[in-house]
Amino acid sequence: MQKILILTAGFGNGHNAAAFGLRDGLEASSEDVQVEVLDLFKICYGKVNDWVTQVYLGMVGLMPRVWAEVYQVLDRTSILEKQMMHFTRLKSILEDILKSSDPDAVVSTHPAYNYVIEQIYKDHSKRPFSQMTVVTDSISVNSVWYASPSDYYFVPNRLTADIMIKAGVPMEKVLPFGFPVTPRFCELSGRNGSADRADGRKHIVYIINTGKKKAGRIIDQLLELPNIRLTITCGADPKLKGKMLARTEAVRDRVRVLGWTSQMPEILCSSDLVITKAGGAVIQEAIAARAPIIINQVIPGQEEGNAKLVEQLGIGAVAVDDDALLAAVHEALEDDGRLLSQWKQALESHSHPDAALQIAKFILHESESPEPRSGEKSAAIFSTRKIVTQPAAGYSEKRTLLCDFHTHTKYSDGKLTVPELVDFYGVRGFDCLCVTDHLAEKRRMVGKLSNLSNLTLPWGQIDEYFEVLEREKKRAWKKYDMILMTGLEFNKDGWSKKSSAHLLGLDLKTPVNPDHDLKTLIHLIHAQGGLAVASHPHEMKSVWGKNTLFLWENQDEFVPLLDAWEIANRDDIFNPVGLKRLPFLANSDFHKPKHIYSWKTLLSCEKHPEAIKQCIRRNRDISITLYREPVGEAVPRLREPWLSEMDLGGSHRDPAQSRTELEVA
Ligand code: ZN
Ligand code: ZN
Repeated sequence: MQKILILTAGFGNGHNAAAFGLRDGLEASSEDVQVEVLDLFKICYGKVNDWVTQVYLGMVGLMPRVWAEVYQVLDRTSILEKQMMHFTRLKSILEDILKSSDPDAVVSTHPAYNYVIEQIYKDHSKRPFSQMTVVTDSISVNSVWYASPSDYYFVPNRLTADIMIKAGVPMEKVLPFGFPVTPRFCELSGRNGSADRADGRKHIVYIINTGKKKAGRIIDQLLELPNIRLTITCGADPKLKGKMLARTEAVRDRVRVLGWTSQMPEILCSSDLVITKAGGAVIQEAIAARAPIIINQVIPGQEEGNAKLVEQLGIGAVAVDDDALLAAVHEALEDDGRLLSQWKQALESHSHPDAALQIAKFILHESESPEPRSGEKSAAIFSTRKIVTQPAAGYSEKRTLLCDFHTHTKYSDGKLTVPELVDFYGVRGFDCLCVTDHLAEKRRMVGKLSNLSNLTLPWGQIDEYFEVLEREKKRAWKKYDMILMTGLEFNKDGWSKKSSAHLLGLDLKTPVNPDHDLKTLIHLIHAQGGLAVASHPHEMKSVWGKNTLFLWENQDEFVPLLDAWEIANRDDIFNPVGLKRLPFLANSDFHKPKHIYSWKTLLSCEKHPEAIKQCIRRNRDISITLYREPVGEAVPRLREPWLSEMDLGGSHRDPAQSRTELEVA
């Protein structure tokens, strides 16, 4: 078993994208590898780091020129070195991690780590692992990348390689494998989306940046162009999405508006042109997808290299104001898209959708130890990854299973993506997790509620949701021995609490149309072997809890139909469900990391989806528990580079602060 540690940083230019892309590449390349991604800045400097990121983003937004100068100053290594002297906490934590986890290779996607590792092994013998670096910069390569030693540097392209070699890095250490985008680009690169283009329209993808939301006018203008289809992505910003939907209502047949999506590889691979800011990750993904690029925003300093790259490779253009952008799109499309074809042609030779797999192969080969390693040291940060292929195999004995059947992801109003949620529950040793994103009726309700409905899973993304969960089921089982189920929370919101109901459908195989009435929904859930559960059926005490009492008010009709009722939802506990002896479940209604400290269900049955469902239906061998982090709490925390300490900090929230956030419950 090889152990690979990837070090990343949440701020700056594409470090996380490279880290997670490479992780996926490594896990796809070998059954016999353990990979962990850590963001030590987040772990060591928690709130300070958030603050730095905020200041950094603020500075970039408000005073781009000032930032450019700061970036120049940082390029002088001596100053950076002084800064680094303050990184003692990071150094001692990294030292501990390296000693206790004993990795075969350490890969950094941020240059600071090479410096820290150099300091750790300065007075000692040789470091006992291979050290490699994924350089995420293109063209303007900050010298900190190669100021400290590394066995190899993986760089995104030939141009970057030449610059580093010219600066004195030995040629044999610089490997232009490409930027390690997720291997899904590689899977998709065979298809060319021609089926999508039967209508002869060019497919333009417009990615709205969080910093630049005034995109309405330019989108109207783009839509005046003949023969285009437009996909607009708004990120996790329901308000913006609502506005864009309203704005493009009249041309729905050729405009698609998406909120947060995990299908960027599919979207980019089916596009003819991408309009975006010059962010490191998205530019590299577009290159991998062979999609020509027009850049409409460049952060001075760190993103300038990406913009230059697009121009120098001849794969697109830079046009930073609306008029220039419109002119650039015109130019690209005229003469039957002559320029667009040239860009596309140039992309053929610069696109490396398989970079993560190539780099993974190299790392695995380089870090292979000739003789068996001296005893398996306490794997510390590395999770035990069992090689079991089917849930059915080898699990016949009864055991107590820790379960959560009500959780939300970014597909509705949750804070984590599906893979992040799986990792979050997986490292905590959960046995069964059901993801239940909100699904509202397709018929939109008027007024305020239409905004809220953007916090629910859009019907247009329902297939994507099932696909992503299907993919994650395999990974959850393989990596964590955890059963993952696909579920939905049907929001049946009326105008009062007595006419509102939330219904959970657990372990669904196919989507269920949310427009049906509650009884039909329950039948359809049962028809595919799923469970129908009443979600928070009684009065909630918590500040933002939504009161949904319809099912409770109509018990005579619904008790015979439902499989269980939530007796506890996050912090709330509903005594009447117990007093009435109704079949029960307890769930966290998880939306963000601190919701983990909440009520959960324990089942005593076989670890198999059918056994779990049967156990709930019978409602025997079932109990509830209030979850707290187990001893050794630091371990899961280390593994969650996307979380800040604030996210995990304690179960008591400040009610005033909570109310400012929007959540459907
Ligand atoms: Zn709910
Ligand atoms: Zn919920």
